[in-house]
Amino acid sequence: MNIILFGPPGAGKGTQAKRLEELLNIPQLSTGDMLRAAVKAGTEMGKRAQKIMEEGGLVSDDIIVGMIKDRIAEDDCKNGFLLDGFPRTEAQAEALDTMLSDSGNKIDLTIEIQVDDTKLTERICNRFTCSQCGAGYNKISQPTQVDGVCDKCGGTEFSTRADDTAECVASRLETYHEQTAPVLPYYQHKGIHHIVDGMADIDRVTEAIKKVLN
Ligand code: ADP
Ligand code: ADP
Ligand code: ZN
Repeated sequence: MNIILFGPPGAGKGTQAKRLEELLNIPQLSTGDMLRAAVKAGTEMGKRAQKIMEEGGLVSDDIIVGMIKDRIAEDDCKNGFLLDGFPRTEAQAEALDTMLSDSGNKIDLTIEIQVDDTKLTERICNRFTCSQCGAGYNKISQPTQVDGVCDKCGGTEFSTRADDTAECVASRLETYHEQTAPVLPYYQHKGIHHIVDGMADIDRVTEAIKKVLN
């Protein structure tokens, strides 16, 4: 099954994607994670993307579409994939359709996680990640069970994202409403779009998504 998770920054896409990865046994393809890996590796593309990401803008469609095309061609995507953070523009959505139909494939389902803007800033400003295994946490809603120790791997080093500041969240939200929200009707018209209430707690959001999958 090929699924897209939509939602503004901080909606819980990554959190839910990690759970669905296990449940459905398909990989999460996060363009944000891929870009951060490129920034960390110091590649030319990473250097160009870094500035745009820090400003809360969007990296160019060409770069992103190329990245996803290569990733979808990999073996582990044969039985399906879960897109997180892509497509974010109408041009990306069209390019995705073209690349999939070229191989006789399509998007089966899109799920939009809806959360009020005011809640998103709070979530993002309290988000942190295990540096060792990448598990995501939240100081308020999803802390580690033992203070300072990752539940998943026992790691004791954590990091926060350079763009997870109140100021940058504001511009990322603006970008979402201006450029990504207009993509949603494209999938609504296809009759494959589903909305879940992302204001509920994490387990309830997972339950709502499972209902959609059934
Ligand atoms: P969030 O988890 O907060 O929604 P992401 O990790 O998905 O954010 O993305 C971080 C940043 O990476 C974005 O603000 C944007 O600059 C860039 N980015 C990620 N995905 C895309 C995309 N599909 N198109 C353009 N830029 C992207
Ligand atoms: P996205 O990938 O959409 O940017 P994340 O999955 O990283 O969002 O979630 C943003 C932050 O909010 C994380 O710190 C996460 O632990 C927390 N979070 C995710 N879903 C919920 C929820 N339903 N209720 C409360 N906090 C949540
Ligand atoms: Zn860990």
